[in-house]
This record gives sequence, structure tokens and C-alpha cells, in this order.
Amino acid sequence: MTEGKSAQSLWWRDAAVYQVYPRSFLDGNGDGLGDLQGVIKNLPYVKGLGFDAIWLSPFYPSPQHDSGYDVSDPRGVDPMYGTLEDAERLIAKAHELELRIIIDIVPNHVSTEHRWFQEALQADPGSPARGRFHFRDGRGPNGSEPPTNWMSMFGGSAWTQVADGQWYLHLFDVTQPDLNWANPEVRADGLETLRFWLDRGVDGIRIDVALGLAKDSTYPDLEDAEAVIMALRMDLDDGSIESSKRRLKVVNSAIFDRDEVIDIYREWRALMNTYGDDRMAVAEAWLPPERASRYIAPDALHQIFNFDFMAVSWNAKRIADVITSTFEGLKGVGATATWALSNHDTPRVASRLGAGEAGLRRARALALIAHALPGAIYVFQGEELGLFDVELEDSDRQDPVFFRTAGAQRGRDGARVPMPWSGDRPPFGFTASNRPLWLPQPDNWADVTAAAQEIDQHSTLHQYRQTLSLRRGLPAEVSWHAEGDVFTMTRGVSFACIANTGSESVAFEGKVIVASQWPQEQGSLKPDTAVWVRLS
Ligand code: BGC
Repeated sequence: MTEGKSAQSLWWRDAAVYQVYPRSFLDGNGDGLGDLQGVIKNLPYVKGLGFDAIWLSPFYPSPQHDSGYDVSDPRGVDPMYGTLEDAERLIAKAHELELRIIIDIVPNHVSTEHRWFQEALQADPGSPARGRFHFRDGRGPNGSEPPTNWMSMFGGSAWTQVADGQWYLHLFDVTQPDLNWANPEVRADGLETLRFWLDRGVDGIRIDVALGLAKDSTYPDLEDAEAVIMALRMDLDDGSIESSKRRLKVVNSAIFDRDEVIDIYREWRALMNTYGDDRMAVAEAWLPPERASRYIAPDALHQIFNFDFMAVSWNAKRIADVITSTFEGLKGVGATATWALSNHDTPRVASRLGAGEAGLRRARALALIAHALPGAIYVFQGEELGLFDVELEDSDRQDPVFFRTAGAQRGRDGARVPMPWSGDRPPFGFTASNRPLWLPQPDNWADVTAAAQEIDQHSTLHQYRQTLSLRRGLPAEVSWHAEGDVFTMTRGVSFACIANTGSESVAFEGKVIVASQWPQEQGSLKPDTAVWVRLS
């Protein structure tokens, strides 16, 4: 650490980060799809809400079979999003506004269109080109069965056969072959990608599928392949012993969370440290706190997403328990906690916590809890507008999850619909084009646009702006507990956040400074609401 800079001053420790999903954020060039120019244009919106940083989902060249998480060149920009100069301009503009930029690094796999995979297809079994991936002979008569029982996160087998009979591994879509991180060339190329973007000034990286890079090189069958996949599925967490046990299935398994994966991040951290102590990495890895802490050891990464909180049910005790286990897991590693209510892979929080009015009330109340907690918060675009998942026709769906499960899982498209900025009908200011949007917006979004919420003092947008500003001044000391349906958190002696997860109003003390629902009576908290209060 640089002399004179205490760990507490490092920006990401308590940052408010806004996740931009570029193709759905704002169309800057009028072709009907969101792009980097659109992001540049609305940086002031993000800044004006009080965020410290932006996390940008992938904008690299990609055939877009998994909305850009199938990367064919990790050191470029897809023409659909703009140019490398646009990316550089975006970083510069953000920095002018004192916004940091976190980019998404997708190291577990590439696109089948990546040069390396194309080479591997042309090369022979056992060749160095195949050695960058996991190519194996099959089992059974003529090797016609997959090499192991491993399953794809998106449904079906994780292996696909190529023309000469070998099989390649893809833990996600068939178009996303997994890289072999035991291969030195893969390791070196990963570092090259980090250098490329760090040299261009990015302040942080979000590591996609951070728990998956290392695989068991003996390729054993999993005892219960489906259970491993299910363990990472975002269902409502009821806090039951079953749901925690379920999570254990990924721990140190053949495909996830292997001990050696941390060695990769030690190398990354050493490289990042050469850029000073202001660059950070956050891991996408849903693990029990005791395993999660390995990723954020002082010589590894800086932060890890807290999926237990993202999945928490609307229950005072469960919320308190997840907060307790989060802080327990951080003991001794020195990293701060992260809090998020949703992202581009999960249902929107208002939909997850119930339908209609109740869902939105709970989502706003849970945001008051998250924003009152010490640590960093991550907000997925549109959450600040209280958006719900959009009900889409099957014919509009694009997510490979939907197709690979033959519709059994609806997939993630509902949360990815282009943002409503202004106006009273689609495309709600998202684009100047009149082409159909990649995912259609509903007709009834006029009241939830950013412009409409700007003039309503009690909107979700205003709630977020208020809490993002006030959270900075909260005292360091924190305590929390649940009593029946009431969750209470205090920061110091004069601030409390109180939430009512029950079905009856409850009494509370203190003077309301922010409420999740207005009008808010003093002293009585309605069901599914929360308040920030000043205690006398
Ligand atoms: C990303 C997903 C993506 C998957 C494969 C994730 O966890 O967040 O959007 O589909 O990795 O890259």
C-alpha cells in the first residue's frame, strides 16, 4: 500500500457502483441498440445520482450468443458498441466527472469465433492449439458419449463433439468453450488483457465466473452434476438448511472453486499492484462466506459479490442472519462487504420479492437496508427506477438459457429490456431509431421513466439519490438485529434503519429522514416498508 494512504481511503471499499448493461442503457448512434456513446451521454445522470463508479458489462467483439459474454477478442470493442477510441473517451469522460470505471473480464471462456478456438478446430487432437481448451475423447462405443457427466449452467451436457470425434468443454453455451487455465499461454494472455485495459486507465475489473477457471485435470464425474449447477441458481433463498447445503456442492468441486484458482488471482493482483493501489478486482463467485474469503485474501482480489444477500427473502430474521454471516466471513481478510439487490443475471428485485405494489415496496425497503450498510453497493441499471422484470413473449426471448432448457427456464431477458428515459411511449427516449428494440419495452412505462421520476419527490429515483448522498455521512459503528418482523440497524447512536417485513404496522421511534413509501406517518411503520430515522 502507498505510504500515507490508509486502507480505509481506497475508493472501492465503500463505493456506490452503477452497473451498465451497454446494449440496453442508451443508444447514442441511432441504430436501435445501446452503445458506448450512449453511456458517455448519460454519465452525468449516473454521477448526478451520487454514484462513484460504473461497472460496464462486456462491450468486446462478440457474436452476441450470450449478450457479449461470448468474447471473440477481449482487447477490442464490438462495432455494435463503437470503437476503441469510444472506450478511451468513455474512460476519460468518466474520470473528468470523478467516476471510476470497472470493466467486465470474461476469463473462463471465449467465443467459438475467437481465433484460438478456430485454430483448435483446424488442429489435431493433442495439439498445442487444442491444449488451450479442454478437448477430450469421449466415452462409450466409438467415444460417442461425453467425457464426463458435467452439465452446462445453461442446461444439457457441458460437452459438445467436433467433427473428428473429440469433445470440448463449455460450462455455459455451446458457443462459449472453456479455456484451460493450466496452460501457460492462457495464463499469459489473461495478463495481457489485464495490462491492455489497465494501461487504458480502467480502475477496476469484475471477474466473470471467477470461481470456475481451474478444473480438475483428471476429469472425474461429479457425484451429483445437477446439484452443482443448481447450487448457483438464483432462487429465492428461504434460509433453510437445504438451501445452505445446496451451496456447498460447488465448494472445491471438479469444476468450481478449486484451491488452485486463487493462484491465478495472486498473479493478477501482483500485476495490478504495479499500477499502484487504486485498481481493484471484484469476483463473481457465489460461495459460502468461509470459502468466499479465500478470494479476497490480501494477496488475491479486493472484493467478492455477496449473492446470499442478493437472494435473501423478505424476512427480518433472514436479512439479519445474512448480514451476520457476511461480516463473519470477512473477519481477518480486511476486505469490505458488497451489497447488491440484483444484476443482469437475476430477476429484478421488485419482481423477486413479490408481484405488483408489494414487490416494489419491499424492493425499496430492502434498498434502504442495503444503502445503510457499511461496504460497497452495486446497483443494476433500472433498479433506481424500481423496474420490474418485463413479461416477454417467448418469440421475443434471446437468452440461451431459455433455448438450452427448451423453455423450462424463462431466462434473464426480462431484466435486460432497454431503459426508459423519457416520453410516454416506447422507445421512451432509449433510441432515435424506430426499429423494433432487441427486447421490447412495455407500453405502460410512462410513469417509471427517469424523467417522470425526476419530478416526483417520492419516487424510487429520489429515494436512491437521497440515500446515496446520506450514506457517506453515516458513522462507522454498526449493529443490527431482528425482532419478530422488525429489522433494525443502527449506525452510531443517532441513526437507525428500521424495516417491517410483517403484515401489521409496527411502532418505531425517531424522526424520519428517508422512507421507502410516502406519505410516511411518524411513529408507525406500515408492512413492507422501511425508514431511515434520526434518533434523538
Ligand atoms: C455472467 C452471465 C453470463 C455467464 C457466462 C455470468 O455469470 O454474468 O451473464 O451468461 O457468466 O459468461
